[in-house]
Amino acid sequence: MRLAVFTDLDGTLLDHDTYSYSAARPALEELKARGIPLILASSKTAAEIAPLHAELGLGDWPAIVENGADRIAPGALSEDAPEYEKLRAALAGMPEHAQHFKGFGDMNAAEVARVTGLPLANAALARKRRFTEPGLWSGSEGQQEAFLAALSQKGIHARKGGRFLTLSFGGTKAQQMAGILADLGCDRSIALGDAPNDIEMIEAATYGVIIRNNHGTGIPPLPGEQTGRIRRTTLPGPEGWNAAILDLLADLGL
Ligand SMILES: [Mg+2]
Repeated sequence: MRLAVFTDLDGTLLDHDTYSYSAARPALEELKARGIPLILASSKTAAEIAPLHAELGLGDWPAIVENGADRIAPGALSEDAPEYEKLRAALAGMPEHAQHFKGFGDMNAAEVARVTGLPLANAALARKRRFTEPGLWSGSEGQQEAFLAALSQKGIHARKGGRFLTLSFGGTKAQQMAGILADLGCDRSIALGDAPNDIEMIEAATYGVIIRNNHGTGIPPLPGEQTGRIRRTTLPGPEGWNAAILDLLADLGL
């Protein structure tokens, strides 16, 4: 068996309030001791993920960025952003529809810090986008429908999250997971997440873990929970992550 672990960050490996992973240290060390790849999978940009990837000592293992729009090798970060530039050009080409959409590209770092709650330095990294454009919508429902229809004609998808409407040319965490498993030659996977944008990844994995979420909508009951293929933690964030990984390694005889 060749196993790889895929994990969401905020509210999953990282504590919702402190952004600390310290409660997950025992399980992180067990994975490292067994040489099991740990793949970070987040809505964050490559620039935001790189420092954490280095701190965790994940070496050459790839990461899934911008909610599955791409997978990157953190050692070889590129600043090229042709897809992001295409998104921004498309918005500029439809001023009627886009006037109520304020993307990160329309904000400076201080504004991004204000709307996300991120520290200023992290907000600057969150603006280093290459594939997707999150933004705030200030128009009516009807205007948003017209906006989404105009975007769709240009091949642009929109995903509604808690606060942001995020535009992209597609790609999900689950699609990137399949590509990485093939690249690494792995035949089993564990995926952990705490929010609806993690559901596809959790359902596609050999073993899924739903991390308790005390702060958002969380993940509704999934069919795999009845068969035991998907489990749900009683503890939130990194505490739940730690317990789930240690239990799974024991169950798999690793
Ligand atoms: Mg999350």
